[in-house]
Formats: sequence, structure tokens, C-alpha cells
Amino acid sequence: MSVESVFPQLEALLPLVTKPVQYVGGELNAVTKPWDSASVRWALMYPDAYEVGIPNQGVQILYEVLNERPDALAERTYAVWPDLERLMREHGVPQFTVDSHRPVGAFDLLGVSFSTELGYTNMLTALDLAGVPLHAADRDETHPVVVAGGHAAFNPEPIADFVDAAVLGDGEQAVLTISDVVAAWKDEGRPGGREELLLRLARTGGVYVPRFYDVDYLPDGRIARVAPNRPGVPWRVSKHTVMDLDEWPYPKAPLVPLAESIHERMSVEIFRGCTRGCRFCQAGMITRPVRERSAVTIAEMVDNGLARTGYEEVGLLSLSSADHSEIGVVAKGLADRYEGTETGLSLPSTRVDAFNIELANELTRNGRRSGLTFAPEGGSERMRRVINKMVTEEDLIRTVATAYGNGWRQVKLYFMCGLPTETDEDVLQIAEVARRVIETGRSVSGSKDIRCTVSIGGFVPKPHTPFQWAAQLDHETTDARLRKLRDAIRADRQYGKAIGFRYHDGKPGIVEGLLSRGDRRVGRVIERVWREGARFDGWSEHFSFDAWMAAAEHALADVPVDVDWFTTREREHTEVLPWDHLDSGLDKDWLWEDWQDSLDEVGVEDCRWTPCFDCGVCDQMGTEIQVGPTGATLLGMPALPLRGAGLVAASAGPVDG
Ligand code: SF4
Repeated sequence: MSVESVFPQLEALLPLVTKPVQYVGGELNAVTKPWDSASVRWALMYPDAYEVGIPNQGVQILYEVLNERPDALAERTYAVWPDLERLMREHGVPQFTVDSHRPVGAFDLLGVSFSTELGYTNMLTALDLAGVPLHAADRDETHPVVVAGGHAAFNPEPIADFVDAAVLGDGEQAVLTISDVVAAWKDEGRPGGREELLLRLARTGGVYVPRFYDVDYLPDGRIARVAPNRPGVPWRVSKHTVMDLDEWPYPKAPLVPLAESIHERMSVEIFRGCTRGCRFCQAGMITRPVRERSAVTIAEMVDNGLARTGYEEVGLLSLSSADHSEIGVVAKGLADRYEGTETGLSLPSTRVDAFNIELANELTRNGRRSGLTFAPEGGSERMRRVINKMVTEEDLIRTVATAYGNGWRQVKLYFMCGLPTETDEDVLQIAEVARRVIETGRSVSGSKDIRCTVSIGGFVPKPHTPFQWAAQLDHETTDARLRKLRDAIRADRQYGKAIGFRYHDGKPGIVEGLLSRGDRRVGRVIERVWREGARFDGWSEHFSFDAWMAAAEHALADVPVDVDWFTTREREHTEVLPWDHLDSGLDKDWLWEDWQDSLDEVGVEDCRWTPCFDCGVCDQMGTEIQVGPTGATLLGMPALPLRGAGLVAASAGPVDG
């Protein structure tokens, strides 16, 4: 049976809302398939506005992987702005996909990709607008199976009541496996209804179905145990790891947004995973091991993607792009190939200690040298030992000296406030670092026109990291510390004016902390605050700390836990953590030892280049580190003809590390 597009009803509302073009679809490389051609239909959601959601690589990859499959169909849906939400409610228009404007409630599956926990309330809006019951337990066979994925689904317990399932890790193969299970079950006439379908998914071992696990609590509020409540359901659910990225060269045809979006460039993922071992970094921990894409495949993807999109900028994407073992070959090869064209290259993420000037020069060949960004994360050397960010102040000064000496005028530095064991002194050290950066810049460039911007965010301890046991700093102390730092920078008469200072107040971090390390009881808080109107919590203009705190007080009134208990409390070694039954591969004892090493300020090496230190991932997941060199060269490869003009020299863009 075909499903009608809701566009005729929606169209009448579009003149009444902001940025209506974000709802119309039809982007270059978008796919629409006849409804009846597929037996498995996915609606893929990025739970934020179109401008944030459309560049998301995860959704774009799954969209393409699924649509390549003849018996599957995938369309995209994003969070609608509150102005359209209001009108949709008034006029009875359901949550729709932007591709064919089909109602999300008609799909077999709704896959929601969470990069941040602050997107949880937007999922509730979408479910509600779609006419899908908020609680998984209230859904029947006519409703889509709601599957959460992405980094912020590695602890899906706070949204356990709202999702039917969660997938940990890489999604490419996982969505195909899920599609197989759903197709077979539908083919057989849906035996056993929704329960049977979910059981089949759970029994694959790689799909977490929260309803099949019971959580018991101790009288003091801690978890006693989490146990499966159905036969054949595994005690622990494992993350998925795609081993050979060359076999998955997606997206092959990146979507080109019609409306403004946060990244107007084509991105090619050059490797996945990071083993630097920064202790605060959930992305690094949960994406292990390192898997490099070969230089040749990267070049093919760049050529092909440019030809199919007309983009003029290519971002070489990964958690720490200069760490690719053949980044020099890749950068030089691409710079040579697109020499004299308009196409630009950027590394959105590079560590201080991996930055080198040859690389930066290749990336900015013929181009402007605008800004460079580095993330030392901790202000003092001591702090950087605690977080295992093996970057010394001398490394940083040497790097910025090279950059300023080679024509860059602006350096941006990222730090965090509220790291474990941090004191005011550690944070005040940031002012000293910034001062030295300006002083060095002036001296090597001989110019006074040198800027350094310091940008600081509050630290939120994350699951599956060594800091998962750590106490989060309360927002009052975070804010007080940052005020002291701001005053110290302002008081510097010699260099203060050349130092920019940006910081985020500590309150959103507390909500993020509640959602990151929360358990199933936090679901009530999410539901309540959403009912009170919470939307787009990742946007400062929409976020209300007071609303969250009021919701938490009410929703947690009858349990012996509160917001502080979830955030500013340090956990003990023996405590059962809400995500212990979700296997990221990291050995819990190893994480604990690393936490203790952190307190002792002991570092751990990058296992890419040193012997294995037994974090557990490769053993448990049957995976291995994959790095070059392969001896590849890109110079022999002819460039494909480009649509429009070619490569711009870009800034060696923002950076990590
Ligand atoms: S280098 Fe970057 S991606 Fe890798 S662990 Fe450290 S912060 Fe995370």
C-alpha cells in the first residue's frame, strides 16, 4: 500500500515559518524510491535542525548504504523548528521526511543518530509529531521500531523507555543486518508481532533492546544489577566495528544542502578511531581501534565526491587527521592534483604535536593563512598529564612559533575547565600560555598584528572513558574559575588586548552530565522537561537550565537520587555503572587502572606505535590496528573531470589536540 506525501498540507504552512527551504528536500544526490519497491523502509533522523543535521556523515552514509540495497528504502527527517512544530500541531501535519514528505509513522524503522545527549528531547518531539507513542512499551506493530545510534547512544539508558533498540558503534553493517531481520520477519507474515521482531534483533548480539533487561537498584539508589529477562538475549551487547574502510567508501554521492548548513564542504573520512588515549575523550575510546582508509581510496573519494557535488572545499575528516600515517602523501598528492583550481583542502582536526609546517603549507598552497586551531585542553602541564594529553607547553609554543613565522596571524586554542583534580591555578595557567603565544608570535613575525583566541568549555565526564568514575565540577565553581581567568587576561596590560576569550557557562554541562551518565530513572526527567516545552537543548537560546532542574526535582522526588548524585558524585570501583552491560570493548579494569594512573599523573602511550597495552578492544572485538605506510603515491592517478571549478586553497582549519 502506498503512503501519501504530506507536502500538500505542509506547503501551505511553509510561508509562515523561518527558513522554509530546509523542509523541501530535493537536494543534489537525494534519493527517492517508490514506496512499494522496498520491503524495509527506514526513516533516518538527525535530531537537530536541518542546518546541523544535513552535513552529518553518519546519516549520509547510512542513507546511501540502505538506498543501494534493492529491497530497502531510506529517507531523512530532521527536527523541525518550534514555529513549524506549532503549526503542524494546529493543522494535524505529522513528522515527515524531507525526501518524499512521507509521514515518519509509516516507516518500519526510525533510526535516530545522536552525536550529543542534548538531542534527546528533539527525538521526543519527532515521535510525538509522528503519532508514535513516546514509550516503547505502548507501541504496537503499526509503529516504527525506534533505533538509537551514534556516540551519545553508547549509554542509551536515559532514553531506554523511548527507544525500542540501540546500536553501538559503526552503523554500516548494523543497518544491513537489522534490515535482513526485519525483511525476513515481514516475509514470514510478522510471526509473534513486535515482541518477536525485537527478540530476533536482540538475539543477533549487536542490538540492545532495553525492555529485555531488568535493572535492580540498591536502597541507596545505586544499581544492583542489570540482567536479561528473556532466554537467548545476551548479558552484554557488543559494539559494531567496520574493519576495512576501503570496502565502505561512503558517502559516494554526498548530499548538497539547499539551505545554509554548518559545513559547506565535502568531507572524506580518512580514518576512524583514535588511540592517543586522552582520558576525557569518549570519541577516542569508543571508536578504537584505529582503521585507516588507504591514500588511494581517499583520493578516489575526493575526486568522485567533487565531481558529484561541485563543492569547492574538501575536509579530510577524522578525530585527529594529521595522525593518518600517510597524511603527507595524501595532502601533497591532492594539492598537486588540484593545483591551479579553486578547490581547497582542510584538516578539521589536528593535534598540536602532529602539526607540521610542510603539511600546513600543502594545505594552504596558493591560499590565505587565516586561522589555526589547536586544543591543548588542559592549561597546565600537570593537567595535561592528568588527561594524558601528551603535549608540553614547549610543543605548543614551538608549533605556534612556526605558524606565526610562516604567515599565520591567528591561533585559536581550546581548553576545558573542570577536569579531575583541577585547581584555580591550573586554569589561570591558560592566561600565561596565551601570553606566551602572543609574545612568541610577535617576536617571530616581527608584527604586532597577532591574535590568539582562547575558547573554553566545561568538562563533562563520559561513559566508557577512564573519567567515567570522576566527579563533575559543579557549575558555580566552573563559572567562578572562568571569571578569574577572564579577569587575569583582562588585567594583562601588555598582551591582554590581543587575547580573545570565549567561554560557555557551566550550566548546560550539568544537564549534559546528567544525560551522559544517567540511568533509566533519568528518562522521567527528559519526558517531564520535554512536556514543559524543552526543545533544541543544544542551542543556548532555547536551553533552560531552570526548567531541567525543576523537572529533575519533580521527576526524581520518589527515588534516592538527584542531579548532583548523577553529576558531581565520584563513583567507586565496585559500583555497577548504568552502561556496564554495553560493551565498547574497553576492559573495565583497564579503564579503572587508567583512572588511577590519571590521579598519579602517569601517562600512557599511543598503542598505534607502541606495544599493545591491553585496553581490551582488539581482543574482545576481534579487531586490530590498521595503519600504513602502504607506499602508495597519488601522483599517478588522473583527476576526474570536475563539475565547476576545482580546489581552493583553504585554511588549515580547526584542529584537535
Ligand atoms: S587525540 Fe583527539 S581524538 Fe584522539 S583521544 Fe585525544 S582528544 Fe580524542
